[in-house]
Amino acid sequence: MKKITHFINGQPHEGRSNRYTEGFNPATGEVVSSICLGGAEEVDLAVAAARAAFPAWSETPALKRARVLFNFKALLDKHQDELAALITREHGKVFSDALGEVTRGIEVVEFACGIPHLLKGQYTEQIGGGIDNWSMRQPLGVVAGITPFNFPMMVPCWMFPVAIACGNTFVLKPSERDPSVSLRLAELLREAGLPDGVFNVVQGDKQAVDALIAHPEVEALSFVGSTPIAQYIYAEGTRRGKRVQALGGAKNHLVVMPDANLDQVTDALMGAAYGSAGERCMAISVAVAVGDVADKVIERLKPRVQALVVKDGMQPDAEMGPLVTAQHRNKVMGYIEDGIAAGAHLVVDGRGLQVPGNEKGFFLGGTLFDNVKPHMNIYREEIFGPVLCVVRVPDFASAVDLVNAHEFANGVACFTSDGGVARAFARQIKVGMVGINVPIPVPMAWHSFGGWKRSLFGDHHAYGEEGIRFYSRYKSVMQRWPDSISKGAEFTMPVAK
Ligand code: NAD
Repeated sequence: MKKITHFINGQPHEGRSNRYTEGFNPATGEVVSSICLGGAEEVDLAVAAARAAFPAWSETPALKRARVLFNFKALLDKHQDELAALITREHGKVFSDALGEVTRGIEVVEFACGIPHLLKGQYTEQIGGGIDNWSMRQPLGVVAGITPFNFPMMVPCWMFPVAIACGNTFVLKPSERDPSVSLRLAELLREAGLPDGVFNVVQGDKQAVDALIAHPEVEALSFVGSTPIAQYIYAEGTRRGKRVQALGGAKNHLVVMPDANLDQVTDALMGAAYGSAGERCMAISVAVAVGDVADKVIERLKPRVQALVVKDGMQPDAEMGPLVTAQHRNKVMGYIEDGIAAGAHLVVDGRGLQVPGNEKGFFLGGTLFDNVKPHMNIYREEIFGPVLCVVRVPDFASAVDLVNAHEFANGVACFTSDGGVARAFARQIKVGMVGINVPIPVPMAWHSFGGWKRSLFGDHHAYGEEGIRFYSRYKSVMQRWPDSISKGAEFTMPVAK
C-alpha cells in the first residue's frame, strides 16, 4: 500500500510521530494509502528547514526566483494528466474537472512568474530639498498554508507560488483526505530548481495545524476550509501576532430573473450545483426563483438531475463522481432527511443510487428540493454535496434581501437579460464574487479570490495583488545625502519646503 510521507528540506520524510490515517479511493471505497500524520515535531523540522532556506532565497533576485517558477510551470504543463489523475483517485471529482483544477492552479504560477514587475516599488524624487522617498515590499519569512480537501492542487497554488515568488519560504499542511498531489508538487518544484527547504509539506490533522499556529517562527498563515476552523485559525493566529487570511465556507445563490434565458439557466445550475458533486466553495446550492419562474426552472431541471451520469470520475463519460468519504456522504444524506422533515418538497432524491461495479464507492445521486424556506437548515447551512435548493421569492428586491441576509457571502450569480437589473445586482449585493450570467465567477489569477462576511476572516483575498500584499511587508525609505547638502540637526517635523 502506498505510504504518503511529509516532504521536508527537499526530501520525503516519514516523520517521528508514528501516527497514520487511511486514504481512500472514494469511487471504490478501498483503502489505497497510509498517510503519515505530523505534529509538533514534524512542524518544527519543516519550519527549521524553511527558516534556514530563507536568507538565501529572499536574497535571490526576483528575476531568478521567477525563472524557477517558469521551469515549474513547464513541468506542471507536462504532468497535467498525472496530477489530475492523482486528484480524481483521492477526491473523486471527474477527470476533466480535475484537469480544470490543474489549469487554474497553473494560472497562479503564471501570474507569480511576473514577480519582478509585481514587486516594483514606487518612487518620488525631491519630496523636499535633496530628499527622495521610495517604497518597496519585502518578504515576511516562513509562512504556512493549510488547505481543504476539495481542491488539493488549486488551493495550495493560490498560496505558495505567490509566497515563494515574494521571497518567503513555505510550509504546506494539505488536507489529509487527498494529500498525494502535494508531494508531487514538492518533487516538481525541486526538479524546477527550487532550493531545498523553500517548500515543505507536513501531512496531518489538527495537531499539525495547532503546531503551525503556535510556532513562533511562522510569520503568516493562509487557510482555506470550513468557517468554524477558519474563525479558529484567524483568532488563534492573530492573537499571536501573525498575519492571517482565513477563507471559510459558503452558500452560493443563483438568482433567476423572469427574463433570463432558461436554457442557459438550466445548464448553469446543472454544472454549478452538481459539478464536483457540489463539493466546491463556489458551487451554487440555492436557486432563487423570482416571480413566476420557479415552475419553469423545476420542469427543466428535474429530468436533467435524474439523468446525471454518476460513476467513477476516471470514466470519460462521468458527469459526477462520488463524495470524498463515507462520513461526508452520511452527513449530506442527513441534510436530505432534515429537509424532508422540515417540509421542503423533494423533487429528485439522490439517495439509494447504485453504481454498477462500484457498489462500495461513496456515491450519492443529484438531489433537488423545491419550496425551501430561509429558516430551514438545508438553506442556512453549507451542505457541500449534490443538493440544490430552490427558494421562491416575489421580486428582485426580495432576492437581494435574501442573499444579503445570509451569513455566508462567497459567490453569487444573477441571470437576467436586463442590463439595469444586472448593474443594480452587482452594486447592491453584499458578496465577494459576483457573476452576471456566469454561475461560478472564480476570479482569474491576476484578480483576487475571496468572500465577505463569514466566508473570509482577515483583510486580504487570495492570490493576485491581494496575495502579493499579504505575503510581503511594505517599507518606505527616505533618503538624503548629507555630504551634498548639510543642514545640521532638525528638531521639528520635516515638511516639504
Ligand atoms: P475543513 O475545515 O474540515 O479542513 C480544512 C483544513 O483544516 C484541513 O487541512 C484540515 O486538516 C484542517 N482542520 C480540520 N479540522 C481542524 C481543526 N479542528 N483544527 C485545526 N485544523 C483543522 O474543510 P474541508 O472539509 O477540508 O473543506 C471543505 C470546506 O472548505 C467547505 O466549508 C468549503 O466551503 C471550504 N472551502 C472554502 C473555500 C473558499 O475559498 N472560501 C475554498 C475551498 C473550500
